[in-house]
Amino acid sequence: MLYRRVLLKLSGEAFAGEERIGISYERLDYFAQEIISAKETGCEIAVLVGGGNLFRGTELEALGIDRASGDYMGMLATMLNSLALMDKLEQRGITTHLVSSLKMDEVAEPYIRRRCIHHLEKGRLVLLACGLGRPYFSTDTAAVQRALEIGADVVLKATRVKGVFDKDPEKFHDAKFYENITFSQAIENRLEILDITAFTLCKDNSLPLIVFNIFEKGALKRIVSGEKVGTLVS
Ligand code: UDP
Repeated sequence: MLYRRVLLKLSGEAFAGEERIGISYERLDYFAQEIISAKETGCEIAVLVGGGNLFRGTELEALGIDRASGDYMGMLATMLNSLALMDKLEQRGITTHLVSSLKMDEVAEPYIRRRCIHHLEKGRLVLLACGLGRPYFSTDTAAVQRALEIGADVVLKATRVKGVFDKDPEKFHDAKFYENITFSQAIENRLEILDITAFTLCKDNSLPLIVFNIFEKGALKRIVSGEKVGTLVS
């Protein structure tokens, strides 16, 4: 196994079905199966979930809602997604520790770094909800920050395309795929892999990132088993 501990970032968008909003229960079941199958390799997995399928602070601000309030709505959206995913994982027999960066004692454990690491060391699946618990951040930034804190070997960014391309592969048929790319090359080529705060945090701490297609069945398991899948940014 190449990676002992990974942090998987699942965007909220991925939770929505074709309608691009709300939660698709088929998708939830699919993610649960993919995570379980990757975990069976013995890899320690923490999953950080986004909320963009429900609320985003910036989008709410454009509709006239105060940015910080909108961001808290976005963080709560990540909890809704996380609760739904936890339920699917547990239906499939995997005990899941739901950890929240906002205090929510009735539904989740508070985020405590050492406790989180302890769960992982014991082979328990950890679901991280509510981002960093602070407005003006994205869940990409939260994913990188938490990955650093818990000592993950790599951040796995789940997307719906194969990896990093020089332009949008869903719009341009001649888009060039990168198997490997350095942080500096990504900046030079103005590739938007993560938002700038998350990207800088990754780069400054030399934390590798793999961008891959979560909808390619078995891809997650192959990555944690050490196969070359998607794009490695390092
Ligand atoms: N958010 C926040 N602080 C955080 C993480 C998230 O304020 O630490 C809010 C922010 O409004 C964001 C929303 O939660 O837009 C949902 O997260 P994000 O947009 O990153 O979700 P994704 O794009 O991954 O679905």
